[in-house]
Amino acid sequence: TTVVKIGGARAVDPAGALADVARLVEQGEQVVVVHGGSTAVDDTLEALGEEPTYVETPGGVVGRFTDERTMEVFEMVLPGKLNTDLTAGLQNQGVDAIGLSGVDGGLITGRRKSAVRVVEDGKKKIKRGDHSGKITDVNADLLETLLGDDYTPVVTVPMLGEEKEGGVTPVNADADRAAAAVAGALDATLVVLTDVPGILADPDDETTLIERADDPAGLERIEDAAEGFMTKKVMAAKEALSGGSPEVVVADANAEMPITDAVDGGGTHIT
Ligand code: ADP
Repeated sequence: TTVVKIGGARAVDPAGALADVARLVEQGEQVVVVHGGSTAVDDTLEALGEEPTYVETPGGVVGRFTDERTMEVFEMVLPGKLNTDLTAGLQNQGVDAIGLSGVDGGLITGRRKSAVRVVEDGKKKIKRGDHSGKITDVNADLLETLLGDDYTPVVTVPMLGEEKEGGVTPVNADADRAAAAVAGALDATLVVLTDVPGILADPDDETTLIERADDPAGLERIEDAAEGFMTKKVMAAKEALSGGSPEVVVADANAEMPITDAVDGGGTHIT
């Protein structure tokens, strides 16, 4: 089984990845697609006259702050427009794709964490009202049932989050980490497709691809090289491996056969 994460950056055209999924499924390979869509959420927020909010944690990681309005837009854009279009795109290639958010069948669950530690103007603060959380479980049985019946799941956040006061609500979670949790739960290879050829020693120089990280020193090398959003992919890779994935590949989504290329040695291979 292969879990393919399709990035949401503006520079990524999913057409090549979808055709490649169709080719793999045709060959009898089981594939689960997980997608993000942060930029589409930002575009929609802006079209509605709202500002996306990004915050920095004390650890220096930049992430989205998901207030109530943002959560609504998330629900509209990810399981709505993006998931429907990717599912239709695969159906158009003859793949029996089935779109699911983490909420459906309790596919991805965790706890909502509404208060987050942030750094604003150099000061540490607690910001409340965040609709995001940490993934704790994946309903692997549901995915295995679907795969066993020859469906190709197309998975997106939100996940189903437990509230402190009891009950569950849709909660935002990072798509790379959702893909990692799904891959780990299925003991599957994770292919993270993005808008760069892989993890670069120098993020501004595409000729500095790090081809593999297969020991602690290699892992340290990619951790040192990753900046900004790439740090989340490295974190996700570590989570997938500790969850049971044999291999994580970060590779170029815009290649003609991006998944096949990645599995055959392209991109950055992390084991
Ligand atoms: P996606 O939307 O595909 O998930 P992201 O925008 O979250 O992609 O992450 C990919 C980005 O990470 C690249 O476009 C690049 O700007 C940035 N990046 C930071 N450090 C590195 C690095 N060492 N190698 C490659 N890309 C990096």
